[in-house]
Order: sequence, then C-alpha cells, then structure tokens
Amino acid sequence: MDATVAVRSVTEVGPDTVAVTLDSPAGFDGKPGQFVKLTAVVGDEEESRFYTISSPDTEGSFETTVGLDGGDFSAHLAALSEGDEIEMAGPFGDDYYEGEARALVLAGGPGVGPAVAIAEAALAAGNEAAVVYRDDEPAHGERLDELRERGATVVVTGGAIDSAVATAVTGRDGEQAFVYGFADFVDEASAALEAAGYAGDAKVENFG
Ligand SMILES: Cc1cc2nc3c(=O)[nH]c(=O)nc-3n(C[C@H](O)[C@H](O)[C@H](O)COP(=O)(O)OP(=O)(O)OC[C@H]3O[C@@H](n4cnc5c(N)ncnc54)[C@H](O)[C@@H]3O)c2cc1C
Repeated sequence: MDATVAVRSVTEVGPDTVAVTLDSPAGFDGKPGQFVKLTAVVGDEEESRFYTISSPDTEGSFETTVGLDGGDFSAHLAALSEGDEIEMAGPFGDDYYEGEARALVLAGGPGVGPAVAIAEAALAAGNEAAVVYRDDEPAHGERLDELRERGATVVVTGGAIDSAVATAVTGRDGEQAFVYGFADFVDEASAALEAAGYAGDAKVENFG
C-alpha cells in the first residue's frame, strides 16, 4: 500500500532516539516487526529509508522508533511536527510476531522499537516475552520497565549479550527468537543464539 500520511507526534524516547507516530492509512494492517518505507525530500533529493513498526498494533496510528546517528533522513524525521505529511509504503517483511507462545527478542540500537512492540503484543495475547537489548545509551526505558512489571524478562546491557541470551533461551515448544538491528548486531545475536543451543529459525530483520 502507498499512502500520504500525517504525523501525529515525534517524541524523544531516549538519547538520540525518537518515536515517530503516523496516522495509519485506511486498511493498513502492519504487525510489530514488519517495516514501512518512508519517502521525503531531504535537501534537494527525494530519499527513502525503511523503519520498523514499534507499536503493538496499527489501529488508527502506528509508531516507528528512529535512531539518530548523524544521518540526514533520520534527522529529517526527528524534525517533523504534528500535521506534517510524509509518503509511506508497506507493510513489508515476514519476520514479525505471529502469536507465538514465547517471544524472545534480541535488539540492538533502534531494534529496541520492534522489541518492545513484540513483547507488548505477546503479553497482551497472554503469551510470554523476553527481551535482550544491547545499547550503550538505552531508549524506551518506560516501556521496558512496564514490560518487566507485567512479567516479561528484560535484560539491557552495553556489553556482550551471550550470557543473557543463554539464560533467556528455554528450548520450550513455541519459543520463537527474533533479531532486530544493524548488521554487526545481527551477526552477534545469531552467534549467541547458536551458542545457547536455540534450535529454531530465528526471525531476523537486518537494518543494513
Ligand atoms: C528492513 C529495515 C528496517 C529498518 N528499521 C529501522 C528502524 O526501525 N529504526 C531505525 O532507526 N533504522 C531502521 N533502519 C535503518 C534506516 O532505514 C536508515 O538506514 C537509518 O535511519 C539511517 O538513515 P540516515 O539517512 O539517517 O543515515 P545514512 O546517512 O543513510 O546512514 C548513516 C547512518 O546509518 C546508521 N547506520 C548505518 N549502518 C550502521 C551500522 N552497521 N551500525 C550502526 N548504525 C548504522 C548510522 O546511524 C549512521 O550514522 C532499517 C533498515 C532496514 C533495511
């Protein structure tokens, strides 16, 4: 689906991280972990980038979580205001939450967006959730705290994730691992899952 959508809000959710909430176009049904393509004129050029849905559902509106690390497109998103419009296409991707009994989400950097969304969706469905999140300057602290209070296992670390992943992998039926982040993190997370004896196919979204 291609649509022009309005910005509802842009909110700081941690150091160099914003949550961008957009109106959902009619008929839009994205799942946490799927992604959209956003297109805007930045400088003099029309540019597009992909962003992953970080709200547990897309009814009425949906959120993406954007890491700010000096790039032009992400800076453009962070500078948007309520009522501004942006082009979007999607949803895309097959690596999203599908009601599995236990969601184990490994997230690096802005991958925390789909991590909190999937964990929230899993708990709302009466299922289990565990999040292992690596970031030197973590974001979405409030939502991570709420997840802990609701019974999810949440580990936030600035260092190696191996021991946290080894503890989080239970090997029980219905356990599904998810990995969201940039390529270096995806490699590290995949190795940690293998070392922990995770036997299934992880659902992996590589941010580039
Ligand atoms: C399927 C998919 C889903 C994505 N979902 C998200 C998302 O939910 N949130 C999000 O913030 N981004 C996401 N991205 C990345 C996003 O599309 C942009 O690449 C990112 O916002 C940088 O764009 P830019 O124009 O700001 O920076 P550019 O100038 O295009 O790129 C430079 C910046 O990209 C980032 N970057 C590029 N490679 C790496 C890397 N290996 N490690 C760390 N940082 C790196 C850094 O911030 C860097 O400063 C996703 C990408 C893909 C392919």
